[in-house]
Amino acid sequence: MKKYQIAVIGGGITGLSVAYYLHKAGKEEDIPLQVTLLEEKQRLGGKIWTERWNGFVMEKGPDSFLERKTSAKQLALELGLEDQLVRNKVGQSYILHNNQLHLMPEGAVMGVPTQLTPFMYTQLFSLAGKLRASLDLLLPRQKADKDISVGEFFRKRLGNEVVDNLIEPLLSGIYAADLDQLSLKATFPHFAQMEEKHRSLILGMKKTRAPKPAQQEPKGQFLTLKNGLYTLVEAIEEQLPADSIVRGCRIIQIKKELSKYQLICEDGHKFTADFIIATTPYPALQQIIPTFKYFLPPKAIPATSVATVLMGFDEADVDLPYEGTGFVIPRNEQTTITACTWTNKKWPHTAPPGMFLMRLYVGRCGDEAIVEEPDDVILQQSLEDIKKVMKIKNKHIFYRISRWRHSMPQYTVGHVDWVNQLEEELAKNYPGLFVAGASYRGIGIPDCINQAKAAVEKVLKQIQTQAVFDY
Ligand SMILES: Cc1cc2nc3c(=O)[nH]c(=O)nc-3n(C[C@H](O)[C@H](O)[C@H](O)COP(=O)(O)OP(=O)(O)OC[C@H]3O[C@@H](n4cnc5c(N)ncnc54)[C@H](O)[C@@H]3O)c2cc1C
Repeated sequence: MKKYQIAVIGGGITGLSVAYYLHKAGKEEDIPLQVTLLEEKQRLGGKIWTERWNGFVMEKGPDSFLERKTSAKQLALELGLEDQLVRNKVGQSYILHNNQLHLMPEGAVMGVPTQLTPFMYTQLFSLAGKLRASLDLLLPRQKADKDISVGEFFRKRLGNEVVDNLIEPLLSGIYAADLDQLSLKATFPHFAQMEEKHRSLILGMKKTRAPKPAQQEPKGQFLTLKNGLYTLVEAIEEQLPADSIVRGCRIIQIKKELSKYQLICEDGHKFTADFIIATTPYPALQQIIPTFKYFLPPKAIPATSVATVLMGFDEADVDLPYEGTGFVIPRNEQTTITACTWTNKKWPHTAPPGMFLMRLYVGRCGDEAIVEEPDDVILQQSLEDIKKVMKIKNKHIFYRISRWRHSMPQYTVGHVDWVNQLEEELAKNYPGLFVAGASYRGIGIPDCINQAKAAVEKVLKQIQTQAVFDY
């Protein structure tokens, strides 16, 4: 019986999920599939990378996933990891403004105020800024005929102060982005829909927000695994036949050969495939199919470099100014770090008793040079920043710096149309080659898993159609 050969390029969470769901479908639906996952590095997981050391569970890349976007939790459950899931502790978070920490105003949903009193009392905005934001209650709808930036959208509704001091540090943390370039349609389309329906964002948020359950502890919205997110990678790997994973194989070219594809690895190895799912970041795809004429404009899908700095302290050596889980920093504060998480306050399993683990972030769109600085420079500047608001009595016991070059894809204005166009042209010119992953339709882990599932569906659909012809 013919076995359909499917090559999956890239062993990050998207590629691993593709391989997992293909294997599952092959077994459950009795489809003859031969899946090969080709990863350039020796380590699987891509951006997911946990270090377990001396009782610490340290995430160098992502640290958790949103429960609300269900695909990641569902995958963890399918893999039998239910007893390892951990939910974040809910605590106060803060914003640095004029070198002081300010409470996140209660009722601010992704930066949009929904409660009057905390908003009126916060010192994050001047009186003029507060009055400007309240104009949202009166302003008419904006024209919704084309994609605009997240910055433009919110600046028109709520004014610059609320955007720069609250919305920007909250939202841009997800993409390390410049809000004035970030596409509203690709990242937060529900805000445009809310304006369309309710006109005012403040009123829309108030109406659509689920009522707070009476006398119930607020519940964390994020999940991770108690031995780190890498557990997910290991659990998927266990489900895949060992010979279906090829490590240290950087694909440098894809050639079309009659009804098959040939994939050429840097070390000269060749693989044939009926279908390819490419889950590499977009720039790698451009290198692999250099003769493809329909690549997006050069400015499409740029990627920002960031670094994470993990520091371990004796708990007695750190004086936190307040109870809470950390703080974010607006772009206008002139600091090197962009955010600081008091990691074991948010995730108690990450540090052994008596120790304190902190994670700092550096680098954001347009401000990335710091990522290339040597460790001592990054450490010194990061410490200078945190010492503005925290007392550190003794030096850290250890640190880990992880540089993620060109790792945060920027969904700039026009992104959704570009991705649609790319997929259409690939379908015409490279039938059976599909793309998925963080460069395209969402960068969060659940978004990547959803894209993996969608790509698997497309392959299976084509196989089923071909099977009909074969009969
Ligand atoms: C610092 C940081 C923090 C983050 N925090 C969170 C978070 O808390 N929660 C969340 O949901 N998301 C978070 N994200 C985003 C999320 O981690 C990523 O978007 C997601 O893991 C990307 O998965 P992927 O499989 O699409 O890509 P990647 O993980 O980049 O995997 C792509 C793989 O392709 C391989 N590859 C590339 N080129 C080739 C080639 N030519 N041949 C073969 N293999 C190749 C790479 O080596 C890599 O393994 C974070 C990202 C970063 C960088």
